[in-house]
Amino acid sequence: MRKISSLPSPVAACCAALRRAGFSAYPVGGGVRDLLLGRTPEDWDVATSASPRQVMALFPHAVPTGLPHGTVTLPTDSGPIEVTTFRREGGYSDGRHPDQVSFGVGLEEDLARRDFTINAMALSPDGAVIDPWGGLKDLEAGVLRCVGDPVKRFSEDRLRLFRVLRFAAQLGFALDASVTDALAHASSSAPLAAERVGSEVEKTLLSPRPAWVGEMLRYGLLSPWLGAARADTAPLASLHARPLPRWAGLAALLDDRALPETLRRPQAVARPVAAGLELLHNGLPEDARQWRHALATYGLDCCRAAAYMAMAMGDMEPERRLVSTLAARPCLTVKQLALSGGELAALGLSGPAIGATQTRLLTHVLDRPEDNRRETLLELLGR
Ligand code: ATP
Ligand code: MG
Repeated sequence: MRKISSLPSPVAACCAALRRAGFSAYPVGGGVRDLLLGRTPEDWDVATSASPRQVMALFPHAVPTGLPHGTVTLPTDSGPIEVTTFRREGGYSDGRHPDQVSFGVGLEEDLARRDFTINAMALSPDGAVIDPWGGLKDLEAGVLRCVGDPVKRFSEDRLRLFRVLRFAAQLGFALDASVTDALAHASSSAPLAAERVGSEVEKTLLSPRPAWVGEMLRYGLLSPWLGAARADTAPLASLHARPLPRWAGLAALLDDRALPETLRRPQAVARPVAAGLELLHNGLPEDARQWRHALATYGLDCCRAAAYMAMAMGDMEPERRLVSTLAARPCLTVKQLALSGGELAALGLSGPAIGATQTRLLTHVLDRPEDNRRETLLELLGR
């Protein structure tokens, strides 16, 4: 039997404390999966027989993050540990949330409610892997398979449709044929929160295989938000694995300036993507001078987004030009002018005249960056 000895100490300590108090406790789910894969889990899950109140009593720093579902979160140096009371779920009439959650069940039933076999393993106190659903075998084969009947499991909670494609993208795993079949028959009507869907799309976009977003489109999973949009998403892999480049790339491929907004992404991404697509449509800057003007007018992130969009469309040149334009550290704002507002005031200029002069100087310097020197600007003023 497979054994694990490298459990992070806060997770081991959390389980030990629960066991000392007379409860059973097991690391479960994504943390176990990632540890077996040699990946570093971002968060941990511990399943226990203790009730949320008993967990709270045992750990004074615990935060009651999801009491109705039996979840209490322990912040630790190895990331948050979600301690959840063993539970069974029943009746999913809304396609997302169980109608009832019952506690007082054991580990076996708790593992049975989990989505995929590789996410349905636990670690016993001696480090042995508890694996009633064949997760180890699937982990070794690199296969994503549902716990139980995929059609039923996907109809219970439609977020699992997104999760399975996201895990395929993150782990490089194949979908079991039963999963592919169920995906093909999944209807697209259920009311998932756009924010949750956006988060799964983003995890997919930021993975080593962002093109899997194309499968979400192809299976119609995104149609409640994006209609019948389709795209060849292969070019996304050539963009930096950060939110702005990958969202910008996808928005360009779908020609949808509102995409990040629709899927409830933060304004720091949504705004530059919307403006960037407009810049792309209006014609991208072609040389350093035009890029400097665009940077001064639209801002750095919008220009970057537009250049990433060109990249996604197969044109690498705009991004190269933008990078080399920025490398010269050009003056792009009145604040960066070699002549300050204070100095202009000392020269006898007043309020509105200062602003107008700065704008005139900046326009000049955007054309001729080499002129951003005090003497040259003074000379220009004299003319
Ligand atoms: P990651 O943390 O990398 O996003 P994860 O598998 O840990 O992946 P979490 O959302 O942290 O995902 O969930 C922890 C565990 O809870 C999962 O491994 C799985 O066992 C279970 N789980 C999470 N979401 C669902 C779901 N929608 N349906 C069934 N089980 C789920
Ligand atoms: Mg997790």
